[in-house]
Amino acid sequence: MSIRVEFGMEFIDCHCHIAENYFYKKMEFFISEWEKVGVKRIGAMATNLKSTKRNLELASKYPNLFVASIGRHPWGAHKFNTEERDSFEKIVSDSRVEIIGEIGLDHYFIKEKEKYPQQKIVLEFFLKLAQKHSKPVMLHMTGAEKEILDILTTFQLERNICCHWYSGPIDVLRELSDLGCYFSINPAFLRSKNHRNVLKFVAKEKLLTESDGTVKFQGEPGSPSLMPYLCERIAEELKITTEDVSHLIFSNFQAYLK
Ligand SMILES: [Zn+2]
Repeated sequence: MSIRVEFGMEFIDCHCHIAENYFYKKMEFFISEWEKVGVKRIGAMATNLKSTKRNLELASKYPNLFVASIGRHPWGAHKFNTEERDSFEKIVSDSRVEIIGEIGLDHYFIKEKEKYPQQKIVLEFFLKLAQKHSKPVMLHMTGAEKEILDILTTFQLERNICCHWYSGPIDVLRELSDLGCYFSINPAFLRSKNHRNVLKFVAKEKLLTESDGTVKFQGEPGSPSLMPYLCERIAEELKITTEDVSHLIFSNFQAYLK
């Protein structure tokens, strides 16, 4: 894999699960690796209460690097209980919380339909928190893109929405784009036609970059170190320079967090 790092380029990974043991247990090592390739900011994604707390701890320790999120991933939504609900209602007021995510629905990887109503309850709970506390959200929507679009239209979210690793239908992509959503591009766009559609149909000002680490890419755990390589591939696709892509994504991430 060719990774060319030009001096002065600054990279963003808006969606990475840094609280996972793989990263968490060797954090100093990974941070030095990410700094070497020019990664400046990382959206620390939560999947449950444990990763939420780790994200806040890591954001305190490395405030310039990590952007802390809180949330419950749809894969574990069926385990969400009242105790957890109460904890999240308290935690959301913590000044370190910058994003609500990773939240959403998954009707593709989760085959048991009896889990879908609970996914929706948990998603709506977090969207209400985002609305009340004015926080941007990070959405997982595999196989449930239209359902999420319908839910979003029932909310008045003041802050920005990012659809992570979007690989759904084009008509829903266009409608989400019309709503003003951001879309984070994963290195998997190279082999997914639906995911490549994001680059085709979404305004450049709404694009972000992500690894979704530790999800594997080319057999290795994904990590923010992939961002220079990803920006190079996006630059080829958009026929602009890698430097322009890195500047664009950097300012898009600032706008998303605003
Ligand atoms: Zn994720």
